Amino acid sequence: MNVTRRDALKASGLAVGGLALADRLALADCTIGTSGGGPSNTNSLFDSLPPCYPQQETLAPDEMRITFLGTWYCPRLAQDCNSVFVELGNGDSFVFDCGSGVMAKYNALGVPLSRMTKIFLTHLHGDHMSDLTHIYSFGPAYDRRIPLYVWGPTKSGVPDPVTGQIYDDGTIAYCGLLREAVRWHTESFSFQATAFVDYDYPTWTVPVPGGGTGTPPQVKDAYDLVPFECDWTKEGFLAYQYNNVKITSFPAVHTRQGSISYKLEWTIWEERVGQPAVPIVLSMIFTGDTKPNNYVVRAATNGVDVLIHEMTTSAAVWTQKFTGITPADGAIYTNAVAACQRVIDSSHTPEKALGYILHKLAVPPRLAVGTHFPATDDTIAEAIPAIRSWYPTGDVTVASDFMVLNVTKARIRVRRAVVSPYSWATLSTAITEAAPGTFEVPKYHYPNGVGNPYAQLDPNADVIPPSAYS
Ligand SMILES: [Zn+2]
Ligand SMILES: [Zn+2]
Repeated sequence: MNVTRRDALKASGLAVGGLALADRLALADCTIGTSGGGPSNTNSLFDSLPPCYPQQETLAPDEMRITFLGTWYCPRLAQDCNSVFVELGNGDSFVFDCGSGVMAKYNALGVPLSRMTKIFLTHLHGDHMSDLTHIYSFGPAYDRRIPLYVWGPTKSGVPDPVTGQIYDDGTIAYCGLLREAVRWHTESFSFQATAFVDYDYPTWTVPVPGGGTGTPPQVKDAYDLVPFECDWTKEGFLAYQYNNVKITSFPAVHTRQGSISYKLEWTIWEERVGQPAVPIVLSMIFTGDTKPNNYVVRAATNGVDVLIHEMTTSAAVWTQKFTGITPADGAIYTNAVAACQRVIDSSHTPEKALGYILHKLAVPPRLAVGTHFPATDDTIAEAIPAIRSWYPTGDVTVASDFMVLNVTKARIRVRRAVVSPYSWATLSTAITEAAPGTFEVPKYHYPNGVGNPYAQLDPNADVIPPSAYS
C-alpha cells in the first residue's frame, strides 16, 4: 500500500498539470472586470479537470470522496459560500459547514437531505452556516425523517466592550434560537410525517454539556435539532466517534475567539489472508476560517491525506476586485488596502503563509487544497507562486465548487462534477418505498385524513373553489 512520490504525482497529475498552467499566468494578466472572459472570469485549473458523475459512482470500501459545494465567502454563481461533503466507503457522510447558497449545489449533485444529517460547523459566520435554515426546515418535506445533528464551537466568552456582557454565542444557543425562529415553517410543514415509528437511536460518542462524552439524546423527530458543542480551547477535542470514524476539533484563530477546525480520521481494517487485519487510516483536515496558526501544524504534521486550508488573496487584489479602486487613485487606494489588510490580519491566511504552514509539516499532506478563495486564473496565478515560495514541490490545488477528490491510499483523483443547473432535489429510495405504518402520524391531521394539508388553514378562509376554474 506504500505510495511513492511518483505515484502520488501521477495520481494527481491533472491537478499538478492545472497548476503548471496557472503558474504560467502572471499577475500582470490580472484585469479588473465584471463580465466577459479573461483571467478574472475564467478558472482554467478547474476547467482542465476530468469530468465525473459522483453520485452515479459506487465508492470502494476503502475510498473517501470529498466534494466541494461552496468555496468562498461572497456568494457568486461559480462559488457559493462554504461547504465540504465527505463520503466514506462504509456508507457514512458528513457535511462540514453549510454557508449561503450551497443547497443548490447539493441538489445539483444529487445528495438527498437524508444524507446530510451530521453537520459540523467551524464557526458561526453566515458564510458557514446560513443554509442550515433550509437543511433543517425542509428535511421532512424531502426525505429526512430523523433529527438533524449539528456540531460547533462552545461560546466565545468575549465580553461586550461596551456593556461587559458575555453573550451565549455558542452552538447550543444558536441551534435553540434557530429552532424557535423557524417555528412557523416547521409547524406548517408538520402535516407530513416527521418521524419513523422505529428509530435506532444513534450510539455515537459525542461531547455532552458540562464536559465528558456520552451518546446523543433519545429524540427521533426530524424537527429535533440536536447540537453538540466542541470546546474551542482544546486541541484533539473528541467531537464524534463511531464505526471506526473519529472527528476531532482544534482551535482556529479567526476574528473572535470561538472558531474551530476539524480533523476526520477513518480507520479501515484491511483483511489479509492468514494474517491479522491491518489498520489503514484515511484522514482529512478542514480548517474553516483561520489566521495561520500552529494548532493546524500540530494536527497535520504527522501526515494527512488531504489538508483543506483556507487562504486569502492579497489586500491589493481584494481591494481592487471589490471596489475597482486602483493605485492610480492615490490615498483612497492606500486607505482601502489598509482597511482590507486589517481584515486579513484579524481573520485569514495569506497565500504565502499557507505555503509556510505546508513547509513546516514534518510529513506533508498527500494533497493540500486552498479554499475560501475566489478562484480565477488571475487570483490563482498570484496564489501559486506565493505558496511555492515556501512549498516548492508538494501537491497543492485550489478549490472551486464541484471539485471532487476521490481518496484511497493508492491514489487521489481530482475531478470536476458534471451537474445540471435544473436538477430537482433527490429523495432516497428508502423513503419513497417506505411501507404504510413506517412513519408516525403527522402532528396536523384530520381523524379520517392523516396528513391533511388543510388542517392548519382557517376553515372559513375565502378560497376560490376548483369548480370555478377547472
Ligand atoms: Zn468565511
Ligand atoms: Zn468566518
